[in-house]
Amino acid sequence: MQLIPTTKTLHTFAKFSTKKGAHIYRIPMQAFPDFWVYAYLVFVDEMIVLIDTGSGFGESNQHLLDGFERVRAEEGLASVVDNLDYILITHGHIDHFGGLPFLLEITEAKVGIHELDLRNLTNFEERILVSERRLRDFLIESGVEAEKQEEIIRVYMVNKMLSRSVPINFTYNAIDMQLGRFEFLHVPGHSAGHVVIRLDDYLFCGDHVLNGISPHQWPERLTLNMGLGHYLDSLDKLERWAGADITLTLSGHNEPIENLSSRITQIKGIHTQRLERTLGILSEAHTVAEVSSQLFRKVSGYDILLSVEEAGAHVEYLYQRGLLGITNIEEIGQSKMPLLYQRLNDPIAEQMRICC
Ligand SMILES: [Zn+2]
Ligand SMILES: [Zn+2]
Repeated sequence: MQLIPTTKTLHTFAKFSTKKGAHIYRIPMQAFPDFWVYAYLVFVDEMIVLIDTGSGFGESNQHLLDGFERVRAEEGLASVVDNLDYILITHGHIDHFGGLPFLLEITEAKVGIHELDLRNLTNFEERILVSERRLRDFLIESGVEAEKQEEIIRVYMVNKMLSRSVPINFTYNAIDMQLGRFEFLHVPGHSAGHVVIRLDDYLFCGDHVLNGISPHQWPERLTLNMGLGHYLDSLDKLERWAGADITLTLSGHNEPIENLSSRITQIKGIHTQRLERTLGILSEAHTVAEVSSQLFRKVSGYDILLSVEEAGAHVEYLYQRGLLGITNIEEIGQSKMPLLYQRLNDPIAEQMRICC
């Protein structure tokens, strides 16, 4: 089971053109060891716009500059950074905005993000500490062994200590979800303030829809407006909004999506299957950590955290909809006691179609 976007594909620079003639350059950056991400540099009307920035870690900033240099030569510009008008962030995850502290030292571009991810950028340090606290509670409640909890928190904090708060110039909400020919759609789930950006017949979808992997899910108890229920609703919302006019969807990782509708159907299918397996596992009482190890078998390192979060998002979805109950309710008062979930077989809750 692969939990983070694939590194097997070659991450290459590429150029695309929309039907109305906007130029889009795809810049590959190594966000973390064995983990690549794309930024997109867009030339539309008289504007130059960067969508996402990489992580700011290791070689990421240099890879971004290398990409700028290639575009500069191709477009016959004196400089990209001196002419950059806007930086649009698809969502508040570090592999997409972590390049901002570096970029804002060399460009005057205005930065935008959705208001529900604003604090991830402007109150970074506070948010990390609050997230760590919620993550600790979640790991205890999920029944993750004490030693593994410490290891997970350590890895989580090491990555997050790499960035710092940056000022933002506007939210998409404040500009009515439109900037020139760019339109924004709020798609909460993978992050609270995730947006998909439309330009002509192209979409920039960050991590909301990816080729080759189902985007990672967190339980909403870690951050409001995340969670599987919001995510699945946002897939439907995107499909309706995109309509049939989209020719290519460019994402933050992996190759472009040619048939968005069929990719959305595949991702929903993965979650339907995962929810059904979770219900099957919970015909007997288990903790989230036990569900995780049955769903994802052998994982190690950072994948332990990802797999417990993914399992937690599925258990939370089913619990909230009345399909699961907690069997050790009398022990809940004892702190550090993990919760045991089990299928309820409630006839009213069972009327619900699982997922989609
Ligand atoms: Zn993300
Ligand atoms: Zn990402």
